[in-house]
Amino acid sequence: MTDNRLRSIVIVGGGTAGWMAAAALIERLGANHYTRVSLVESPEIGTIGVGEATVPHIRDFLKHLRINEVDFVKRTHATFKLAIGFEGWAGKDTQFFHPFSEHGMPLAGTSFQHYWVKARQLGQADVLDRYGLSSELARAGKFAVPKSNDGKGFLFFNYAMHFDATLVARYLKSWSMTAGVRHIEGTVANVRLNGESGNVETLVLNGGREISGDLFIDCSGFQGLLIEKALHTGYEDWSHWLPCDRAVAVPCEGRSEPASYTRSIADQAGWQWRIPLQHRMGNGYVFSSRHLSGEAAMARLCETVEGPLLAEPRLLPFRTGIRRKIWNKNVFCLGLASGFLEPLESTSIYLVQRGLQYLLGSFPQATPNLALQDNVNHRNHAHWNHIRDFIVLHYKLNRREGEPFWDECRHMAVPDSLNETIQLYRETGRFRQEAVEFFRASSWLSLFAGFGVMPRYYSPAVDDVPEESLARELANMAAGIASTVSKAPTHADFIRANCPATLPLKAASNG
Ligand SMILES: Cc1cc2nc3c(=O)[nH]c(=O)nc-3n(C[C@H](O)[C@H](O)[C@H](O)COP(=O)(O)OP(=O)(O)OC[C@H]3O[C@@H](n4cnc5c(N)ncnc54)[C@H](O)[C@@H]3O)c2cc1C
Repeated sequence: MTDNRLRSIVIVGGGTAGWMAAAALIERLGANHYTRVSLVESPEIGTIGVGEATVPHIRDFLKHLRINEVDFVKRTHATFKLAIGFEGWAGKDTQFFHPFSEHGMPLAGTSFQHYWVKARQLGQADVLDRYGLSSELARAGKFAVPKSNDGKGFLFFNYAMHFDATLVARYLKSWSMTAGVRHIEGTVANVRLNGESGNVETLVLNGGREISGDLFIDCSGFQGLLIEKALHTGYEDWSHWLPCDRAVAVPCEGRSEPASYTRSIADQAGWQWRIPLQHRMGNGYVFSSRHLSGEAAMARLCETVEGPLLAEPRLLPFRTGIRRKIWNKNVFCLGLASGFLEPLESTSIYLVQRGLQYLLGSFPQATPNLALQDNVNHRNHAHWNHIRDFIVLHYKLNRREGEPFWDECRHMAVPDSLNETIQLYRETGRFRQEAVEFFRASSWLSLFAGFGVMPRYYSPAVDDVPEESLARELANMAAGIASTVSKAPTHADFIRANCPATLPLKAASNG
């Protein structure tokens, strides 16, 4: 039998995606001393440098690499994130949370939302947020590490992080290079394909150096240097469902204690983010250029940030959509090269992680296998569709009447899959069962409830519970949550006591 292992894997790009790929690949392959992992990074082309809010899965990524979370938080100047707080999306002066915890708990085998809907109709239940521990901790500016680890019950919650993207890339670079990744500084000027197979064979750097490989990971950013420019894989445009196409980003001095959640503030033609780090605040305005000029968006962002600016504002154009294949020939793409969904739910870094799981879970062999590639491409597409639908829902359900951007979003057609989700919830209070389960029922519920959408019916099983018991159970849950919140430290105190920022690592270099 011939050895079917890959001899050489070459990653192009040293942003968050590139160094995440390098770390995950060397973790998997470092011990075999057979496959070489290299990363080519241009000293002339910068990284995007934004991408600072995450979802809880980032902790699994760190755990998998056996990276100490406290060390990581200190060195990336991170803060903790329990939820996303949506301000002004459901109308002026409104706020609701999408928390990283369940709401309430099932009663007599029936999901909490059915009880909550009935109790709300009877005037016996509070707003949904009061039954979510993460929402309430976030609202109170508190943070604690969850005690229970079983992932169940309304006193369990999970958390993510806000971090400095540049420091994260530096951290992972140092980690990966120590583990054996070869770092090559250079700008790819030309990509040579094999005349027969069409596979990428060699990268030619400025100055003429040639780098060949068996598998290439394209992490070159929006342009998709290999997957698009060389292989012409194609792009599925989703901008008719997600009309924002620009962002302005600028950091400023933080003037308040850091919130334990990402703020998403609806504005005239899009929304603004506030991402608190230990040493500064990240700010941005994601907007539609059909409704607002870049200059106006920049001016609006600068007048609303909380402290003096720490850099010049940057305008970042983007096109929402997905690369038609994440894996084409011998190129696998990750990060911005694989597509873009706006940062409303902080899902891009998670999608890098997910892509890496697909790659490592069906680890390619030297002999290509089309069936395997098709399967991965299909699963990846379904995952992106699921996340896309969830993000589109925010725009579709908005209640900002009388503003052209928001009125258009409310009236736009949405994907059929999302239409089904909306109809099913409106009629039955239930959620579609999907093959992909990233956003679970409690996430969908946060949005529907936050936007004031109540279903016509709830499960008939709820009527088996006497109304007084129902009110008592809900009051007990809210009281349990309030009591836990009252005992938790503030987010700022927690960080000061456990993981204050340390000086950043020096950038490592071996190539
Ligand atoms: C406005 C905005 C806000 C965002 N917010 C979030 C968020 O809150 N949470 C989240 O999860 N994600 C967010 N993202 C997405 C996140 O920033 C990216 O997913 C992440 O940074 C990965 O980027 P990347 O590594 O793919 O690309 P980049 O950071 O663009 O890196 C590209 C790399 O390729 C290299 N390169 C390019 N061309 C060549 C060449 N010819 N030769 C050699 N090297 C080359 C560059 O030098 C660079 O190292 C946001 C994105 C945008 C645009």
